[in-house]
Amino acid sequence: MQTEERNARIIARGKALFASIAGEKPTLFNTSSWTGKIMEWSMRNEQFKIQLFRFVDVFPSLKTSEQLTGHIREYFGSEQDMPPVLSSGARMAGMFGTLGGSLLAKLISANIHEMAGQFIIGEQVGAAVRQLGKIRRDGFAAVVDVLGEATLSDEEAEAYIATYQVLLGALEHEQQRWECLRGGVGDPELDWGGSPKVNVSVKPTAIFCMANPQDFEGSVQAILKGIRRICARVVALKGFLCIDMESYRFKDITLEVYRRLKLEYRDYPHIGIVLQAYLRDADRDLADLLSWAVAENIPISVRLVKGAYWDYETVRSAQMGWEIPVRTVKADTDATYERLARMILEQHQICHFACATHNIRSISAVIEIAKELQVPEARFEFQMLYGMAEPVRRAILKETGRVRLYSPYGDMVAGMGYLVRRLLENTSNESFLRQSFSGKARIIERLLEDPAVTFAQEEAVQAGLPNKSDAGHDGLPPFANEPMVDFTRADHRVAFPEAIARLRSQPAGICPLFIGGSDSVTDDRISSRNPAHPSEILGQVCQAGIPEVDCAIRSASDALPAWRDTPHRDRATFLLNAAGIARGRIFDLAATQVLEVGKQWDQAYADVCEAIDFLEYYAREMIRLGVPRRLGAVPGELNHYLYEPKGVAAVIAPWNFPLAISCGMASAAIVSGNTVVFKPSNLSAMVGHHLVDIFREAGLPPGVFNFVPGRGEVIGDFLVEHPDISLVAFTGSMEVGLRIEERAAKIHPGQLNVKKVICEMGGKNAIIIDDDADLDEAVPQLLGSAFGFQGQKCSACSRVIVLDALYDRFVERLVKAARAWRVGPAEDPAFAMGAVVDAAAQKKISEYVSLGRLEGTVLYESPVPQGEGYWVPLTIIGGIRPEHRLAREEIFGPVLAVMRAKDFDQAIEWANCTGFALTGGLFSRSPEHLDRARHAFRVGNLYINRGITGAMVERQPFGGARMSGTGTKAGGPEYLLNFMDPRVVTENTLRRGFAAEEADDKRLG
Ligand SMILES: Cc1cc2nc3c(=O)[nH]c(=O)nc-3n(C[C@H](O)[C@H](O)[C@H](O)COP(=O)(O)OP(=O)(O)OC[C@H]3O[C@@H](n4cnc5c(N)ncnc54)[C@H](O)[C@@H]3O)c2cc1C
Repeated sequence: MQTEERNARIIARGKALFASIAGEKPTLFNTSSWTGKIMEWSMRNEQFKIQLFRFVDVFPSLKTSEQLTGHIREYFGSEQDMPPVLSSGARMAGMFGTLGGSLLAKLISANIHEMAGQFIIGEQVGAAVRQLGKIRRDGFAAVVDVLGEATLSDEEAEAYIATYQVLLGALEHEQQRWECLRGGVGDPELDWGGSPKVNVSVKPTAIFCMANPQDFEGSVQAILKGIRRICARVVALKGFLCIDMESYRFKDITLEVYRRLKLEYRDYPHIGIVLQAYLRDADRDLADLLSWAVAENIPISVRLVKGAYWDYETVRSAQMGWEIPVRTVKADTDATYERLARMILEQHQICHFACATHNIRSISAVIEIAKELQVPEARFEFQMLYGMAEPVRRAILKETGRVRLYSPYGDMVAGMGYLVRRLLENTSNESFLRQSFSGKARIIERLLEDPAVTFAQEEAVQAGLPNKSDAGHDGLPPFANEPMVDFTRADHRVAFPEAIARLRSQPAGICPLFIGGSDSVTDDRISSRNPAHPSEILGQVCQAGIPEVDCAIRSASDALPAWRDTPHRDRATFLLNAAGIARGRIFDLAATQVLEVGKQWDQAYADVCEAIDFLEYYAREMIRLGVPRRLGAVPGELNHYLYEPKGVAAVIAPWNFPLAISCGMASAAIVSGNTVVFKPSNLSAMVGHHLVDIFREAGLPPGVFNFVPGRGEVIGDFLVEHPDISLVAFTGSMEVGLRIEERAAKIHPGQLNVKKVICEMGGKNAIIIDDDADLDEAVPQLLGSAFGFQGQKCSACSRVIVLDALYDRFVERLVKAARAWRVGPAEDPAFAMGAVVDAAAQKKISEYVSLGRLEGTVLYESPVPQGEGYWVPLTIIGGIRPEHRLAREEIFGPVLAVMRAKDFDQAIEWANCTGFALTGGLFSRSPEHLDRARHAFRVGNLYINRGITGAMVERQPFGGARMSGTGTKAGGPEYLLNFMDPRVVTENTLRRGFAAEEADDKRLG
């Protein structure tokens, strides 16, 4: 059939469907109900919509009437200012006055329950089963989904599976009482065309709480293990099991789980999977799945949807610097939907098709394609979400007789994510339902247009638009963070073990010093060891003594004049070249960290990304700052403000961000015209030496960057006190930082400069958990912040301050979730936590754990591997008070102190009560508390409703105050100023009464 003819038929069918529901409205768009009014108001008022959806999100966690009234006021204003749509019911009922607030709250609460009830068939299995009976009496089949998305612990995953067992138990009994729909096929368990009456959907990530593409195989195995248990039961009662598709991150894992499950149930046809047309991978994934099914001769079933995570996918990919995995033009998704539907229907013998959409155009297209391909009715059905598009579902039922409603049941708290997604979907500008049924409905012709044509037109319009120039200042593209590793990509997943194997295949070599552009070997060496297997030696690191450091300082001093006078743009170009070199060997650089300091894959990769970011960012910053600025506008006078480097910089770096921090401090010094003597930590000198390779390859002149690993107690003071050192850039512990401050302050004979010290020290960082916090977010983020890289980040969370009202619930979930964190070598992605960096760290941390037993109560202590390795358990200690040492001293390890605060004021007071002020976090959904924290939570980097580690260059310049640092912000717009002295040159341009203004640019341009 010709495309035009088919399209004409689709439009005709669509028009007929529209005509059959003329005058009807889905409940959500019916303004005679509260829900309908609210939805209408939100569609007209974007700000209200945001507030409403945020309120709906927090609503289930509001346990007392004070909390409820407080949040209503915070979100929507006082009763008088509140949008009439919220308060009108109460006004009419005369509910205002002294008691008005709480009565209004009750009314709103009842309405939100009703709104949730619109989409959820019940909170208990009994109610759900009754509602299913009603659905079936109306002629619809159902697919039941247990509410709940990602689970946080094995116990929660187990509870999720158990809920299915209970549900299936109830359905097994119940299905005998259900009449077969459309006469069935003679079997009491089957409806039309042999379709099972019992049909359930499962969410893979709810089955395994640590699902993560980084551990692809482990995730597949664990999900499969859980799904098998549900599947066995479903098969036993001749039911249907569909595996839902969640965010893109889990797509390939889910597809793999499906394939393996199907191989185990080769001949059982009623196991399906969901594919999302909005994904750019969708065509390829479907083609692969179909050809696999044909090759294996395995019957499959696909529910085709457009995809429910569009906002999330676009935001997340932008934040991570990844290509957007979803289509960005709605008509593209719609056209893909029709294209994929055809692919499936063409293979209807092997693939059963569930067409899941509310879009009349999409449905009409499927009906027409199926007709054209003469697909038997039993091979395809229609599915819609319970609570949505009621007129459409009735019309399709009438037309086809085969409509299944996706019917979620379960706890409202778990259901809020689902509800918010449905509300967003319905009120989005792109929503077919909104465009069909809301106030300003679009004309039917537009709604039924061929999306392929619409998309082609939109593309043509886009192509005609002038290209957005991506040039930043001075011809460089604007700064953008280096994209994070993307473990959804198989090439990224294999790159790590390959790089680690490559590293191991090289003999443990000697790591020399680098002074004045040449390698220099010393007899004094120390071994660099893998903390998970200390007997594994990665290299022998030459140790600088005082003569070598002296020599390095001399080289740096000699190189200084020429380097200082190198044009700032040229200096910046060296950094850009270095960035390119680092980018080209990113996995090798990361692999060294996995083995040398025990960083997990993603963390190691992030460290290299940050190093690249520093190079790219500081290069641009220098180009910006390097041009002298003209000040004042007085005639006859020329004032120029310019910078010059301070001199020779000592860069003393820690082991915990072994490339990023070293590279950040060194590159800032270099690009601003200083020369550098770099002393890495001995614990990460192999990583540190990569900087030598990178800068050497980038062509940095000899002496500009010198590398002198050595023992702090031997060379530290000498380096800091040396009269030729003008600047010390240090990141590390408070003890060493304060010593450097003191030593650098003393002037030595021959010293020409007052030394500048840039000092980043430790933290005792707290996260506050407010009583309305979203625990689904807070618990995993907190665990990541506290135990990622074994808690050995200066930004790591070491105190969690929980409001009394939520304390018990929070602690219970935290401890259960922590149990899922397995401890083992960082090179194996199955382990979330690894070994600490060395024996000294192990001893110190263990002493704090012992102290914790005295000061508080151990809530959880994880098992650790037996045998060699610097293992310490993941430890959570409760009952800690502000006066305890565990609440005040930096531990730098995986030990989390849990504190119970009576209210928000006390939580803020405790958060601020240590000598440090580095990072801090707050999980809260109270607008007032968020506002208070912005002002009163005094830390260098405050993170709201997210983890507190992983600051990004340019977006979150990093550094603290008080005993955490001297207020410099690495990766921020003022950082380079710390490495330079400003100068002003003033010239009188008046010569015998004649002012020569044109001389300006010639002088300093
Ligand atoms: C029975 C059933 C089961 C479902 N199961 C799942 C599931 O397992 N996983 C899942 O992700 N979703 C699932 N969904 C939801 C589904 O993905 C859609 O979000 C929802 O059905 C709305 O799509 P529509 O075709 O009905 O409406 P339409 O209004 O025609 O389409 C809306 C959809 O278009 C897409 N879109 C919106 N804006 C843009 C844009 N700018 N560019 C490109 N595309 C855009 C989005 O996918 C959006 O949801 C299910 C839906 C149903 C009916």
